[in-house]
Amino acid sequence: MVAQVIDGKAFAAKVRAQVADKVAKLKEEHGITPGLAVVLVGEDPASQVYVRSKGKQTVEVGMNSYEHKLDAETSEQDLLALIDKLNNDPAVHGILVQLPLPKHLNEDLVINAINPAKDVDGFHISNVGLLATGQKAMVPCTPLGCLMMLRDQHGSLSGMDAVVIGRSNIVGKPMAQLLLGDSCTVTIAHSRTRNLPDVVRRADIVVAAVGRPEMVPGDWIKEGATVIDVGINRIERDGKTRLVGDVDYASAAERAGAITPVPGGVGPMTIACLLANTLTACCRANGLPEPEGLTA
Ligand code: NAD
Repeated sequence: MVAQVIDGKAFAAKVRAQVADKVAKLKEEHGITPGLAVVLVGEDPASQVYVRSKGKQTVEVGMNSYEHKLDAETSEQDLLALIDKLNNDPAVHGILVQLPLPKHLNEDLVINAINPAKDVDGFHISNVGLLATGQKAMVPCTPLGCLMMLRDQHGSLSGMDAVVIGRSNIVGKPMAQLLLGDSCTVTIAHSRTRNLPDVVRRADIVVAAVGRPEMVPGDWIKEGATVIDVGINRIERDGKTRLVGDVDYASAAERAGAITPVPGGVGPMTIACLLANTLTACCRANGLPEPEGLTA
């Protein structure tokens, strides 16, 4: 079998177009413009690139983007004061604090200071609890993007065997909750899992979120399975720096039914889902129906 390639770039463009369409309608019919505030503390180069890209795409879909750049020595008190201000600003529907924060700042404390209704990253403890209990939550962007791609691929996921490799709070755990919410039989595998190859071989859906280059070889993949590769790993090969996933793409593509490439798979979906979450937060804040197809 040669796998169908799931084109995350095209999918993300479709999501952004849907968001832009809904944003235009919100403006026209209700005079509301969704706003996303992004807070960056310090000068981490990768974080700066992400924040720039988030701001650019926010404006492209017609939303307001508010960037708050604070210096690396910012005190916890000052950061919490800014979050409080954003929590109370009616023009701001989504708040994202770019992680990682400098070491002197307590990430849990800062994230849990965000109004959960504006927590478009879905990391607030209330949103984690809402997701775990099957209630309306703000859902972390990367797993939401994976779920959208899986639903698009299969329609219903009900009854499918899904294996999520990785148990992080950002990807693995929320991904498993979302798959459970869609009635998959879910296994969460991690660094201590015994017999990982056998666990993966049972899966109709494999989501790999580990951060180890090409650790899942093709012969672990059940014939026809759908493989979602969240990993982004930088390696040197043939004298060049390349990005590869957690799955060995070449061998997995010979067995999978469908597979996301790296780059160009899950990656572009994350910011698209951040925009979708900001739109959802704005609709909820204004008592309007949620955008169809853009929530969990
Ligand atoms: P993390 O380091 O927080 O978690 C990794 C998980 O992998 C852990 O739960 C650990 O138990 C598990 N693990 C480690 N070694 C293992 C092994 N040998 N076998 C099985 N499980 C093992 O990482 P994360 O934040 O969840 O990110 C995972 C990967 O996804 C990274 O490559 C990251 O860059 C990428 N990522 C991509 C996006 C995106 O596409 N937008 C977003 C977030 C993370």
